[in-house]
Order: sequence, then structure tokens, then C-alpha cells
Amino acid sequence: MRTIDEHGYHFEEWLTPARIAEDVEQVADRINADYAGKEPLFVIVLNGAFVFAADLIRKIEGIRCEQTFIRVSSYFGMSSTGQLQFIVPLQQSVAQRDVIIVEDIVDSGLTVHQLKAHLRGLGAASVKVATMLFKPNKLEYEDARPDYVGHEISDEFVIGYGLDFDGYVRNLDAIYKVKK
Ligand code: 5GP
Repeated sequence: MRTIDEHGYHFEEWLTPARIAEDVEQVADRINADYAGKEPLFVIVLNGAFVFAADLIRKIEGIRCEQTFIRVSSYFGMSSTGQLQFIVPLQQSVAQRDVIIVEDIVDSGLTVHQLKAHLRGLGAASVKVATMLFKPNKLEYEDARPDYVGHEISDEFVIGYGLDFDGYVRNLDAIYKVKK
């Protein structure tokens, strides 16, 4: 099993690249079925979701779709600051669009909760959420429960596959769990 040491913590490989590919495919299959005949707009939440989004959208088949980006931040180090900042705002209209928010991980749900309100306020016809990882035990905002989940995880800190530790290790091709 591969391991990584980062910021003084020890991490062990949890989801291999092959397992991640299966999870992504399963999410894409469901979106392909649910959005047949529609033209969804994927709102990709930077920075963390860019790796998952790149894999996911290339498995979207038979559907005309667009992608746009938004950059928000609510975390510093290993814990949430509770405040969502819109660092890069939306560049594209979501009015009357079927929006799919693409996240790397839904933890407390604060980010998705606030983003959904933001997108609805801008007139989106529908807003759903696709996330690589979901921590159901941590969810504090019921409306942030994701519609499409690659993999569930309990209350553990993970890195890799887009998920960072203070800006580092997003490049890892697997998802690693911290060992206490
Ligand atoms: P939420 O707003 O749902 O509490 O947190 C969502 C954001 O927190 C994610 O987009 C991600 O940036 C960060 N986050 C939450 N849990 C983890 C984790 O286990 N590892 C990393 N690297 N980031 C996390």
C-alpha cells in the first residue's frame, strides 16, 4: 500500500485509481440516464473538483452539456472556517439552466448549501450536486445532501485526486486517508 507524509501527518492509500475510475463511471452513468434530452450546465467548484470534473465530464455521453467554474473557499488547513468566500464568481448565466454542481467532497454541506442558494437566486431551473466523496455523518445542512456520490466516507481527513492539504498534494492519483 502506498503512503505519503505531508505537513507532519501520515497518509495511507484508500481509493486506488482503478476504484476511483469505477466510482466516476457509476456517477456518470446515472447523470447520463437522468439528463437524457436536457442540456445541463456543470458548475465545477474550484480548486478541488477540477480533477474529478475532468474525469466525470469525459464520461458524459449522448448529452449536450456545458461547463463553467466557480471558486470558493471555506477551509484553512484541516478545518472549516465556516465562512464561504466567492474568490472567483460565476462567469456564465445559470438562468433557466439545469445546473449540476461538481464538488470534490461534501463535508458539513456548508459550501453546497450556500452555493445552491446562490444559484437558485440567479434563476437556475434546477440544481443538483455530484461529488466524488460524501461524509454523511458530518452533514449539517440537509439541502446539501448530494444527488450523485462517488464514495461515502466517515469523519476522516483525505487528500489526493484534487483534494489538498494547504494547497499541496492535489496531484496524487489516488485518495489517501490520514492515520492518527
Ligand atoms: P463543507 O462546506 O461541505 O463543510 O466542505 C467542503 C469543502 O471542504 C470541500 O470542497 C473541500 O475543499 C474541504 N474538505 C472537506 N473535507 C475535506 C477533507 O477530508 N480533505 C480535504 N482535503 N478537504 C476537505
